[in-house]
Amino acid sequence: MLSWEEDLREISTQEIPQVRRWDEYGGICQRAWVEIDLAAVAYNVQQLKLLLSPQTALMTVVKADGYGHGAFKVAQTALKAGATWLGVATIPEGIELRDRGINAPILILGATHTPEQVKAIAQWQLQPTICTPKQALIFSEFLTTINQSLPVHVKLDTGMSRLGSPWQEAAEFVTLVKNLPNLELASIYSHLATADSPDFTVMKQQQQRFELAISACGIGEKKEMAYPKLHLANSAAALADRRLHYDMVRIGLATYGLYPAPHLQSVIDLKPVMQVKAKVTQVKTIQAGTGVSYGHHFIADREMLIAVVGIGYADGIPRNLSNNMQVLVRSKLVPQIGAITMDQMMLDVTAIPDLEIGEIVTLLGKDGKIKISADDWATKLGTISWEILCSFKHRLPRVAIG
Ligand SMILES: *Cc1c(COP(=O)(O)O)cnc(C)c1O
Repeated sequence: MLSWEEDLREISTQEIPQVRRWDEYGGICQRAWVEIDLAAVAYNVQQLKLLLSPQTALMTVVKADGYGHGAFKVAQTALKAGATWLGVATIPEGIELRDRGINAPILILGATHTPEQVKAIAQWQLQPTICTPKQALIFSEFLTTINQSLPVHVKLDTGMSRLGSPWQEAAEFVTLVKNLPNLELASIYSHLATADSPDFTVMKQQQQRFELAISACGIGEKKEMAYPKLHLANSAAALADRRLHYDMVRIGLATYGLYPAPHLQSVIDLKPVMQVKAKVTQVKTIQAGTGVSYGHHFIADREMLIAVVGIGYADGIPRNLSNNMQVLVRSKLVPQIGAITMDQMMLDVTAIPDLEIGEIVTLLGKDGKIKISADDWATKLGTISWEILCSFKHRLPRVAIG
């Protein structure tokens, strides 16, 4: 097995294989697919822009393949609609965007440490997050050997206890980064732990720490100073309070049309971008007492018309939704029955006696007046919509609509 360093070396020295998730497949000939409404991406970005003052830049976060929507298309659409920065988690995610012709500044939100990583970042004109003095030294040393300078972003930990230098040490750390050769301090940022909570106490404390750290660095309110940029807000914080916007906001979830929390729904209008659809592959009548699927966790209590649908847990439908989800068929909600299997699932379609093979089933999304959202699944599963969006596998082609 390759270590992650060897893996990176391979990616940085070879051409990235052409990404074939998009366009090549007509969604209509597939058994199951994910529809991505690019017009909704543009709409959401425009709504977010309206919330921001003209001085605040919008970074669209497209890590994890654009939260499962396809990073390139989302990035391209968001940039056209008014975003000016992109955020990714990893170097390969950044390379994919560059390789496909995206020129906007790309911030790597994750940690990068090794000379090989510095080399790839410099080569592909990505911008790293710097969290420790040692990391700053490695970057500076390697950049000096190749005689190239790089914009870097200092991350402070103000209470998330994830990446970042302790906020109390900000002044020393920022001075070090400023003084090291070939590092250009492009921004100072931090990340909020509880921005989606209706209780603002922790968020306010983190903001206060951020401000204390910034002023200790000698960066005041001087508005003529364009750099370094300051940024703190994710989707939830951007919707919760304009005073958290600073010079840039880093927006993931809202781009994809979901609200970080119910109390933030009234702030702006957002349209869900993703729909998950599959086709009916067989329809049959079963008698009362007949078991359905592995383990017979569903037994028909009457004669029943069932449909088999070509989508399962290997496509990213959580198996824990077995016997506990509804889908849309001909604009009607029908129950899923029995264990969800790797590639298929069954529905009770007794209410639709003339249902035919090839008809489309909407698992997530809208059909007629009824909508099933990632939040509905998240609530059932005790998780968050972010995880639902990221869970669909690449066996499902992403089909652009709109
Ligand atoms: C993922 C991420 C974001 C975006 O968060 P959303 O809640 O999806 O808007 C912003 N900043 C950082 C550091 C992140 O890792």
